[in-house]
Amino acid sequence: MAKYVYRFSEGSKDQKDLLGGKGANLAEMTKLGLPVPPGFTITTEACRAYMRDGHVPPELRVEVTMAVREIEDTIGRRLGDFHEPLLVSVRSGAKFSMPGMMETVLNIGLNDASVKGLAEFSGDERFAWDSYRRLIQMFGKTVLDIDGDLFAAALDAKKAERGARTDVELSADDLKELVGTFKQIVRDQCGREFPQHPREQLDMAIEAVFDSWNTERARLYRRRERIPHDLGTAVNVVTMVFGNLGETSGTGVCFTRDPSTGHSGLYGDYLSNAQGEDVVAGIRNTLPLADLEQLDPTSFNDLRQAMRRLETHYRDLCDIEFTIERGKLWLLQTRVGKRTAGAAFRVATQLVDENLITMDEAISRVTGAQLSQLLFPQFDADARKERLTKAMAASPGAAVGEIVLDNAQALARTGAGAQVILVRRETNPDDLQGMIVAAGVLTSRGGKTSHAAVVARGMGTTAVVGAEEVDVDVVAKEVRVAGRVLRPGDVIALDGTTGEVFLGDVPVVDSPVMLYISDGLEAGLAAAEDDATRELVHAVDRVLTHADAARRMRVRANADNADDARRARERGAEGIGLCRTEHQFLGERRQFIEDVVLAEAGEQREAALEKLLPLQRQDFVELLEAMDGLPTTIRLIDPPLHEFLPDLTELAVKVALARDKDAVDPRDETLLAAVQRMHEQNPMLGLRGVRLGLKLPGLFALQIRAIAEATVARRQAGGDPRPEIMVPLVGSVRELHLVRMEAEEILAEVGEAAGLRLDLPIGCMIELPRAALTARRIAEEADFFSFGTNDLTQTTWGFSRDDVEGAFFADYLENGVLTISPFETLDGDGVGALVVAGVTGGRSAKPDLHMGVCGEHGGDPESIHFFHDAGLNYVSCSPFRVPIARLEAGRAAV
Ligand code: PEP
Ligand code: MG
Repeated sequence: MAKYVYRFSEGSKDQKDLLGGKGANLAEMTKLGLPVPPGFTITTEACRAYMRDGHVPPELRVEVTMAVREIEDTIGRRLGDFHEPLLVSVRSGAKFSMPGMMETVLNIGLNDASVKGLAEFSGDERFAWDSYRRLIQMFGKTVLDIDGDLFAAALDAKKAERGARTDVELSADDLKELVGTFKQIVRDQCGREFPQHPREQLDMAIEAVFDSWNTERARLYRRRERIPHDLGTAVNVVTMVFGNLGETSGTGVCFTRDPSTGHSGLYGDYLSNAQGEDVVAGIRNTLPLADLEQLDPTSFNDLRQAMRRLETHYRDLCDIEFTIERGKLWLLQTRVGKRTAGAAFRVATQLVDENLITMDEAISRVTGAQLSQLLFPQFDADARKERLTKAMAASPGAAVGEIVLDNAQALARTGAGAQVILVRRETNPDDLQGMIVAAGVLTSRGGKTSHAAVVARGMGTTAVVGAEEVDVDVVAKEVRVAGRVLRPGDVIALDGTTGEVFLGDVPVVDSPVMLYISDGLEAGLAAAEDDATRELVHAVDRVLTHADAARRMRVRANADNADDARRARERGAEGIGLCRTEHQFLGERRQFIEDVVLAEAGEQREAALEKLLPLQRQDFVELLEAMDGLPTTIRLIDPPLHEFLPDLTELAVKVALARDKDAVDPRDETLLAAVQRMHEQNPMLGLRGVRLGLKLPGLFALQIRAIAEATVARRQAGGDPRPEIMVPLVGSVRELHLVRMEAEEILAEVGEAAGLRLDLPIGCMIELPRAALTARRIAEEADFFSFGTNDLTQTTWGFSRDDVEGAFFADYLENGVLTISPFETLDGDGVGALVVAGVTGGRSAKPDLHMGVCGEHGGDPESIHFFHDAGLNYVSCSPFRVPIARLEAGRAAV
């Protein structure tokens, strides 16, 4: 039989799954002998049973009875007693903290009789009636679902009647009358009396906390924080202690060190003669914690000792909620405290210096997400801003600039020295020039792996995508949003970390941590303006240096040209894991590919290919020079044809209009016929990758020759080029075999002519389920594998990577089919199982087969841990995410 109730003396901090964060830590403090009011925790399992069955499990009632009786016996007071009544609070507490999202009910156990007992016991009639009125108000609102304004209005009316400005000015008699009014509100609204039986109050409050797990706001919060909906909450039933019993009582919160700098000291607030909710509501100004030393030296010292004890025990920054009841300290909650990204790094290294944790532990105390926050330039938090909209945060950073609507404007304005934001409905490879010069990109369509998102992330350019409220009208040259009409030249600001778009200029501040990453420690320290920032730069340096030493996986970058490659190298990339050669044919060069694809076989195509060779060779020479001495995986061309051919509809319209006027350009006619011939319903599943290479003989051959000749050129120049040839979209070993045969021939021929041996590794992407499932066979022809988890996700789920995020992911996140886009974080159960199958299959044929990943997931923290566990040799990610991957790969290894 399940055990649904744990006394505080039974649990421990490691039982957060079962007892929730608050319950587990209350138990831990109890075990440490710290002063925690007696109580117990109802498990998350009970909540899950309640959600499943629609009622609380019958055993729970019995267990609650036993646990309540034990408290009663321990402290010698009873629930509902006429003399010294026991009162309890009922508090939610899920595994992950969800501040303010769920319910709490205080003062359970008060009724018409016990309120008199409380008055007698406390010697304070006013206090007793105030507590009772608070109970009815809180219970009415959260348990009975009565509109809270009704109680608030009655309270205001009473204050007005008495000419009182604050609650404190109301007398015991006023409050007694108010209790009568509140009970009447309950009667009117619910058609029942306010429950007088303490046990009924307790049971109803417990159910209300369970119910609060599924309120709209709680669900919304979980979606944003990626907390699964099926965990449920625990419920803590805690003996009430009162901070509002006069001047020798009070309540407060404190941190064992400063949560924004990490410095050790006394940080916190205290409010005398008050309850916790008064501190939160900010009714009176709190005192700094240090002032407690004068007010109540004994409790202050007890608290200091408890803080030290907790920090030593948890070996981390803790935050604590406490209450002093008539000179006696009680701890109501503690947890490892939330902190800013900067403080996380500083605290971790401070704790190492204090010999409380090891460096291995220090790197596990910080995350790649925190590091990435430190790398981006940020908007000045204090600046005034007018928000226009909020959409998907696709590529982080803070960008400010003039609106431009196309490449021409982008180039013209940046040429004139302006900063620009490229605003498009969506982007395609044609927009690349504009994207390169823009400070930021805003699109009204598309998801996290849309072209705009992927390319912007790759370039480290800020991007907000899928902003549906933004209406981009290129014809009228207008952008309409939030009731405003903006035009090119108007300034907007994008926050790629939050997805917010602001009107006008918002000041941006630079990140010294970024300067440290790209230019070294001295540069980072020089850019730091104060000691705290210098300490931060040192902390990041120590953490990253240790992560580099600890990690097993290498970190490479996805980079398509020498500039990106250099940038990646500066940030610590140990090679290129993916050079997408189709990206070398965007913009002006697109025509070359169009010519090759549309040319009739034979001389025409030969001629088209001929023109490409010198361009490609030069691309590779530059790339290999930038990555001298490091592995450089060059992928043979994988152009989704629809991105490289003219748009069928546009072309058809153009030809039709010309026909009407009898003025058709015969070239357009031929082009239209060819585009019609090549048109595909599902281009991402069509003539791509190796399929195109096999269909158009000469195309791959040209690239392989260019790689070979570039290698020769670099070697002759005294360099150490290390290219690897990668074949995309392989589904069958035979495809790879055919390309391999051709490649070996070309390498031999070029090598021979130069008097060099060119045995470059030839491998393939594993990005189709069939490739993963037949990896054993494919490995026989491959020198390495690189998992393409973008296409593998697309083909495993059958989700079109360009369409689904905007189409229905919001619904899927809402109804819990997904907790996050599988294009962002690897779906371990499904796509991950194929990765594991690919690794196992490949290594069963070749135990030392070198394997990496180059899909977007290569830079995603959670996915990186998966790849480490799967046994990959490296991850490859956008240059910007290289430091994050270095840290996460290190964390995965300790
Ligand atoms: C992939 O599919 O994961 C991949 C890296 O290739 P691309 O994104 O270029 O299709
Ligand atoms: Mg792919």
